[in-house]
Amino acid sequence: MVKMQARACVISRITGISLADARKIWHAQNKRSSPSGQQPNDLSWFLKTTVRRYHSALLLSLYAQAKLKLPDYAAFAHAYYHYARITSGDPQRHYDEATDPAFRPTENDYAIPFSRAHYLITSYTDEVGLIGNRKCPLQLRRCKCCDGVYLADESEVERACTLCANKKTR
Ligand SMILES: [Zn+2]
Repeated sequence: MVKMQARACVISRITGISLADARKIWHAQNKRSSPSGQQPNDLSWFLKTTVRRYHSALLLSLYAQAKLKLPDYAAFAHAYYHYARITSGDPQRHYDEATDPAFRPTENDYAIPFSRAHYLITSYTDEVGLIGNRKCPLQLRRCKCCDGVYLADESEVERACTLCANKKTR
């Protein structure tokens, strides 16, 4: 998780180790301090670009798969690792551990950084409340044009992904 730039506070929450220990491991691996600052709390961030919408859908689907086989503490890290590999660019290249594209120098080298991704998977649910309202405003949808699965806000009227919707208006 440290190699994937997960913040120390998130590692502590996922694994149960102390924040001090997580910071120590972080510093030893990355040779600098774990970034601190406010934890993500804005769900609309995931909807702001087409890439984020598709990457969010990929993350949620990998996590749903991982959860079937792995305990909670391992499932997310496993899903995020595969997310980072899949979205790394060159699928033909062979990597060894030193050049593993899942491990990148900073949070900004991921379209969705680890800590934001963790916020997404802990917030997302398809559960509905007593009056039929969704408990989370985010919703995975299948695009009516290209069949791709993307993330939307439940209030969006558009039933096409942003790629297809933008094509139509051009
Ligand atoms: Zn589409």
